[in-house]
Amino acid sequence: MASESYDAIIVGGGHNGLVAAAYLARHGARTLVLEARGQAGGAATTESPWPDAPEFKVTRLSYVMSLLPPTIMRDLELEKHGYKVFPMGPYYQAFPEGGSLTLYEEDSQRSHDEIARWSKKDADAYPKWEAWLAGLADVLGPLLLTVPPAIGSRKPKDLAATLRLAWRHRGLDVRTIADVTRLMTMSIADLLDDWFESPQMKGALAVNGVIGTWAGPYEPGTAYVMAHHSIGDVGDGRLGSWGFPEGGMGAVAAAIGRSATANGATIRT
Ligand SMILES: Cc1cc2nc3c(=O)[nH]c(=O)nc-3n(C[C@H](O)[C@H](O)[C@H](O)COP(=O)(O)OP(=O)(O)OC[C@H]3O[C@@H](n4cnc5c(N)ncnc54)[C@H](O)[C@@H]3O)c2cc1C
Repeated sequence: MASESYDAIIVGGGHNGLVAAAYLARHGARTLVLEARGQAGGAATTESPWPDAPEFKVTRLSYVMSLLPPTIMRDLELEKHGYKVFPMGPYYQAFPEGGSLTLYEEDSQRSHDEIARWSKKDADAYPKWEAWLAGLADVLGPLLLTVPPAIGSRKPKDLAATLRLAWRHRGLDVRTIADVTRLMTMSIADLLDDWFESPQMKGALAVNGVIGTWAGPYEPGTAYVMAHHSIGDVGDGRLGSWGFPEGGMGAVAAAIGRSATANGATIRT
């Protein structure tokens, strides 16, 4: 071991460490991942928690796929390495006072009928809301994979990068820029108040604003959390879709790990 040298050593083999390793290795860096646990994957893990029934394997921490950018899936050839996801849906919400709401990704008329049971106005607003979100996704989606510009720097390279980014967004209108800017600071509750009237619809749509976030729906910034969850897909090209991976979340980490090692990275657990 002492004689081995690496260009990049990644401490922690969660899915982010594995993705970094795969990209580094793909670009020719001698790459090593050091993972403290017995298996890589971090919170993307499938385990057999019952010693007397090892045949039962479960997703133990993170439980559903979304937001893995299709660019990463393609670059790392994750399908070839075993990534397979079944889209989740339809979205179902039960209310404490009784009744429920189901939103069908594939069937806008059925969603309309469902929402209209609570509010006709909300049912009519929902397709417009979805179109508005899709418009935002066109702006925000590509930014997720863009290194932020070094604003204020006068180095020619940084200025060129800032100008390139500005040029890419030259077609944006004032309204869209205002919407994106407000999203970053608004609460999901305030945003939904602008669009919908029924507490059922607002409750159902607020979930994406607080999921995975140490915040309630009135917290500033939660509007963006909602948008962030709505702009990902699971590789099926359907915006905001989530899915269950075959083999549990550990299978996702394993596919990324296989991509990393196929490109020459070493993973030590
Ligand atoms: C209960 C729970 C549910 C979640 N549900 C979802 C979900 O359904 N969908 C979703 O997309 N996200 C979900 N998340 C969030 C998601 O799991 C995290 O965003 C993701 O795991 C972050 O990945 P990571 O690679 O950055 O870190 P981690 O997954 O935390 O991996 C870090 C790795 O580094 C290792 N490590 C740490 N320190 C060292 C060290 N000094 N030396 C060597 N190794 C070290 C750890 O053992 C671990 O394997 C959930 C999170 C939790 C906790």
